[in-house]
Amino acid sequence: EAKLAGKNTFAFYSADMTRMARRRLELEEALTTGLAGDQFELFYQPVYSIGSGELIGAEALIRWRHPDWGLVSPAEFIPLAEETGLIVELGGWVLEEAARQLRQWLDQGLDPGFVAINVSSRQLVRGHFPGFLKRVVKEAGIPANRLEIELTESSLLALGDRTTELLAEMRDTGARLAIDDFGTGYSSLSYLRRFKVDKLKIDRSFVNELAMEGGGEGIVKAVVRLGQAMELEVQAEGVELESQLITLAELGCDSFQGFLRAAPMPADEFRKRLGEGHSVA
Ligand code: C2E
Ligand code: MG
Ligand code: MG
Ligand code: MG
Repeated sequence: EAKLAGKNTFAFYSADMTRMARRRLELEEALTTGLAGDQFELFYQPVYSIGSGELIGAEALIRWRHPDWGLVSPAEFIPLAEETGLIVELGGWVLEEAARQLRQWLDQGLDPGFVAINVSSRQLVRGHFPGFLKRVVKEAGIPANRLEIELTESSLLALGDRTTELLAEMRDTGARLAIDDFGTGYSSLSYLRRFKVDKLKIDRSFVNELAMEGGGEGIVKAVVRLGQAMELEVQAEGVELESQLITLAELGCDSFQGFLRAAPMPADEFRKRLGEGHSVA
């Protein structure tokens, strides 16, 4: 009987794995087609100063408009793009598109502040990102410090020996550097000592806790203090409630993004906000 169960279990896993492998392959092919077929788009989520309430920048977030599947979340395809190496091309497109858009807004006399993009470790190493970044900035004719590069702690860790060298090259481009999802990875403190970054982004999960009964503000407070001590900007992500914003203001956090003020939106919508000369929280 045990044998039979084992056999069934195997059959079950095997069918499941085949299905998963097929789904993966399908997704991989669709990603390649999508890249060639202009199916990707950047959404922009406004970032606000907590002190003044003014819009100070935006995070560019990729969206995939698949002809049959509709809008696909990056959480679904970024990991696969990373595994397959497609992230180099996809991430390259993200940077070029963000730079092009920034150029256009500046040409229209609009001031979007900074534009942040997410860059994965695979992309940093394989695509020789710093050199590429320099070229894109030069070709688009934008000030490099208008671009903010978001790296996660885990992607810094994944760089291993090459971290120092790559981050030094990144600094050299003049772009701003931010650590994304700060607090969820490892080695944050030793990295902060060794590499100069401009900003820490407090992960949404910690901001979320600010809303809880008997609220855990410990980590948020610690990150804000750390940022102040090291003269780094601290930005909170995932702010959904007024009470969270009030606590963040009390703790001395510099800036925030979140559904409370604005969700990620298509470029034209973001442009309208810029035109309105948006202000005051
Ligand atoms: P992330 O960089 O931490 O981006 C923040 C995510 O939080 C975004 O999800 C954003 O829509 C969401 N968010 C913002 N405010 C709120 C809020 O108030 N409440 C909640 N519940 N969520 C909020 P999104 O756009 O689905 O992106 C997910 C992740 O995919 C990003 O996390 C980032 O790691 C990755 N990603 C997105 N675009 C790119 C890209 O162009 N390149 C790379 N390598 N990764 C990207
Ligand atoms: Mg990010
Ligand atoms: Mg983040
Ligand atoms: Mg996050």
